[in-house]
Amino acid sequence: MGKVTGFKEFERKDESYKAVEERVHNYNEFTVPLSEAEITEQGSRCMDCGIPFCHSGCPLGNLIPDFNHMVHQGEWQKASLILHSTNNFPEFTGRLCPAPCEKACVLGIIEDPISIENIEKNIVERAFKEGWIKPQPPKKRTGKTVAVVGSGPAGLAAAQQLNRAGHTVTVFERDDEVGGLLRYGIPNFKMEKGIIDRRVAILEAEGITFKVNANVGVNVSIDELKSFDAITLCGGATQRRSLPTPGIDADGVVQAMDFLTQQTKVVLGKEVKDQVLATGKDVIVIGGGDTGSDCVGTSNRQGAKSVANFEIMPKPPGHRSPSTPWPYWPLQLKTSTSHKEGCDRNWLINTKEFIKDKNGKLTALKTVNVEWKMVPGQRPQLIEIEGSEKIWPCDLALLALGFTGPEATIAEQLGIETDARSNYKAEYGNYQTNIPNVFAAGDMRRGQSLIVWAISEGREAARQVDIFLMGKSDLPSKDIAGDLVGVQ
Ligand SMILES: Cc1cc2nc3c(=O)[nH]c(=O)nc-3n(C[C@H](O)[C@H](O)[C@H](O)COP(=O)(O)OP(=O)(O)OC[C@H]3O[C@@H](n4cnc5c(N)ncnc54)[C@H](O)[C@@H]3O)c2cc1C
Ligand code: SF4
Repeated sequence: MGKVTGFKEFERKDESYKAVEERVHNYNEFTVPLSEAEITEQGSRCMDCGIPFCHSGCPLGNLIPDFNHMVHQGEWQKASLILHSTNNFPEFTGRLCPAPCEKACVLGIIEDPISIENIEKNIVERAFKEGWIKPQPPKKRTGKTVAVVGSGPAGLAAAQQLNRAGHTVTVFERDDEVGGLLRYGIPNFKMEKGIIDRRVAILEAEGITFKVNANVGVNVSIDELKSFDAITLCGGATQRRSLPTPGIDADGVVQAMDFLTQQTKVVLGKEVKDQVLATGKDVIVIGGGDTGSDCVGTSNRQGAKSVANFEIMPKPPGHRSPSTPWPYWPLQLKTSTSHKEGCDRNWLINTKEFIKDKNGKLTALKTVNVEWKMVPGQRPQLIEIEGSEKIWPCDLALLALGFTGPEATIAEQLGIETDARSNYKAEYGNYQTNIPNVFAAGDMRRGQSLIVWAISEGREAARQVDIFLMGKSDLPSKDIAGDLVGVQ
């Protein structure tokens, strides 16, 4: 626990942000850190609550009260050891996690919860600064080889755990750089890419081999993959969703991921031919999730004339909905830093047509307002409101409609079963596919999700691979009951 009376004495304090006028002119992170004294004070707000629900709120099972206590005591190195015992990459989650732990914090019932995510970020940044995060190569090698496909958070976590168990690990990544969606999905202003490079350098020094521009099933053969003793598939779920709407082929209707990836490549100094730019344009982002919000932030930085955001679902309530009481993840309106930079947000709106000129260029969107009819026992029905049609001038429409699932190439070539949602089939808890030495983790197994889940799945899958290869494992697990059943 922190200080006995800390939660009564101190209010929650979060890091602040640089002013909008300043931050929208570049792609850098824009948070203003709290002072050491302020963070220590925040750590001291952690109560001796008896059953820390934050543990189960965090998909990694992070030992939150323990590291809060160490921060309160000024024992930063011990805090870092505790944090890294359950989380390989707190610098990713400390910046990008939606922090379900905070929604489950017991203090949150009566007050603002502990600022867990920010404490986590401060611990890991202090640890890097002090040089406490050093490569930990294994003392001896097992002689077993493991291929990891995909270098997103799931692949990186699996690779680090397997390497620490002494296996010889090769990570195959089809992009030109390591990181998965951390690299080319999430914009630089949410996480600067040097944060990934800093960690990958540690992984390389520990002995992990990274092969980039290595597209398994395309320029890396499945036979090469099969030459490893075990395979862990962490290829993500990046099949983009589109719309069956007339005019979707207009010049100016662009997938969000193309738009975001191009901008990050430019930030990283790479050549991008014919970059799609929002500069001077009326931009409409279709889809109200994280990807949509990232498009809003990027459009404003590129100097869009106007930015609107459409969402087909109703506007969530401003406070936790009674349907999702504490300690559950709340149904609640989320306003991101990108939304605050300038965005006309619209709910219950459906796009009926992308209107184009005679040259095929997008000029406007035709929309209709909708409502959802709930009939018990049936799927909700979308009803269009008569007479609500509207024309919105638009030069650039960004499709941020989510993802339908993983790509099928590897499943088809290796003969792996998929589930009804096209995810690679592997039981939660043992991560093993229908091919005994092939495992799957992260978005590829569970569908598009969160970084914290990807790291958790990568860690847990690594332990199961280790058990498969060695008959037992000393790798940690958040759920020791997850031991692989039925495989020697
Ligand atoms: C725009 C956007 C913003 C997001 N923002 C957040 C956020 O703020 N917070 C959060 O928690 N989550 C966020 N997410 C979700 C999060 O990024 C993912 O859940 C997470 O990255 C999944 O990790 P993963 O390792 O399973 O897959 P990915 O990160 O998708 O990595 C998979 C990797 O596998 C590679 N690959 C695929 N097939 C092959 C092949 N055949 N050969 C070689 N390599 C292959 C891909 O190139 C990719 O690099 C966001 C997602 C998007 C799209
Ligand atoms: S990883 Fe996410 S859920 Fe877990 S402690 Fe950190 S912020 Fe909370």
